[in-house]
Amino acid sequence: MRNNYIVLDRDGVINVDLFDYVLENKTFEFEKGSKEAIAKLAQKNFKIIIATNQACINLGLISAEGIKDINNFWINKVRENNGEILHVEVCPHKKGEDCNCRKPKTGLLESAEKKLNISLKNCFFIGDKLSDLECAVSHGCKPILVRTGYGAMTEADPFPNETKVFDNLKGAVDWIVD
Ligand SMILES: [Mg+2]
Ligand SMILES: [Zn+2]
Repeated sequence: MRNNYIVLDRDGVINVDLFDYVLENKTFEFEKGSKEAIAKLAQKNFKIIIATNQACINLGLISAEGIKDINNFWINKVRENNGEILHVEVCPHKKGEDCNCRKPKTGLLESAEKKLNISLKNCFFIGDKLSDLECAVSHGCKPILVRTGYGAMTEADPFPNETKVFDNLKGAVDWIVD
């Protein structure tokens, strides 16, 4: 059986992008079909790594612990629906802080690889922003754009031409596993 890793952005892919930060559990709303898509990945033996920029932490809007709590909240919902998230990587930095983890930089992927002793090269990476696609390409992942969140806007501008585009996470996952 295959045991593949897959990288997912969070906001605009798994949950509805508020075009603002998710600072409370109650504003974390799953995109239509995303929980089912995650369950399908688990069923097909894909291990999910989340790579998410959360500048709200260093903007002082929420603590790193607060973001962890929100992630635990939705990951529990995913588990109740037979899904699983293997690992979460969060960049807390603001634009302009020049860290090496804020996407499109690849530090989140390198950190996950180091902690889990795995390689994410050639894995699918699903996101809704150009920064996700660029991060994927820089690291040697296969970029997938979804039209949810910022995706429709991302699609309207130039993006890496090896990118596959789907309406949402469910569409992307159906294509990957079927
Ligand atoms: Mg996003
Ligand atoms: Zn960072």
